[in-house]
Amino acid sequence: MALIPFDDRDGTIWLNGEMLPWRDAKTHTLSHGLHYASLVFEGERVYSGNIFKGREHTERLRNSCKIMDFDIPLSDNEVDAAKMAVVEANGITDGYVRAFCWRGSEMMAVSAQKTKTHVAIAAWEWPSYFDPETKMQGITLDIADWKRPSPESAPVHAKAAGLYMICTLSKHAAEKKGFTDALMLDYRGYIAEATGANIFFVDGEGTIHTPIADCFLDGITRRTVIQLAQLLQMKVVQRHLTLKDVADMKECFLTGTAAEVTPVSKIGDLTFTPGDASRQLVEGYEDLVRGRISV
Ligand code: PMP
Repeated sequence: MALIPFDDRDGTIWLNGEMLPWRDAKTHTLSHGLHYASLVFEGERVYSGNIFKGREHTERLRNSCKIMDFDIPLSDNEVDAAKMAVVEANGITDGYVRAFCWRGSEMMAVSAQKTKTHVAIAAWEWPSYFDPETKMQGITLDIADWKRPSPESAPVHAKAAGLYMICTLSKHAAEKKGFTDALMLDYRGYIAEATGANIFFVDGEGTIHTPIADCFLDGITRRTVIQLAQLLQMKVVQRHLTLKDVADMKECFLTGTAAEVTPVSKIGDLTFTPGDASRQLVEGYEDLVRGRISV
């Protein structure tokens, strides 16, 4: 299938307060965000015309800006309204929203105190084909060589571009070996997350285990799925986990805006069998995003 590049599409992008034709939403090549990774972003899903957890994503965007030492020049209500305007302008019913902020071109050096913050919002169709049977086959994870850094080494709680260098490298290495994605351990050797999703395990008693989000993104889907599991009377434990700790776990799944709830069948040499707990959460999450239940 031919790739349609993201800079050559029809539609409308919101850039610094203006709705622009898609191909005209440009920034200068000499932008601090591009050279020094002073860029933060959100990935959000639109289901049946509504942005799922839109306000939480807006709040996280603001918090990522704050962590990166720049301000977003808009209120939460303004960001939410701009996101909806973009969804509507592009006629999206089921899709994806990308909202992002970056430092501009006023200064091009490590010090960037006087740069303007740019804000852009794009959205595109992402039809949701809900097929639990395909999902239940599970994806495979390689174990990445790269480790998630300590909170003393990087702004680990921001959804910041620079943190994705090692994700892209890990994902490419995994794909070259025939895996779908990679599991990343942290600087201590604990299980952290996949390259763009959080991870959960289910033991033989049906208890759910997930790593403590102390050096990686505490995903909005992760938090939602913890609440959903509790609603379904499942016990959830957040703790540090090693590969040895999960060797006897029965099920494994990823969570994320893009991944939703995606069962995992293999991590390196370890195998898992997507079962009842994963199925309940895959289906429960679909009920949540479609507004059939709430947590
Ligand atoms: N970790 C990483 C590195 C991610 O990129 C994402 C996707 N945003 C997640 C976890 C899951 O976060 P969320 O559920 O908020 O999409």
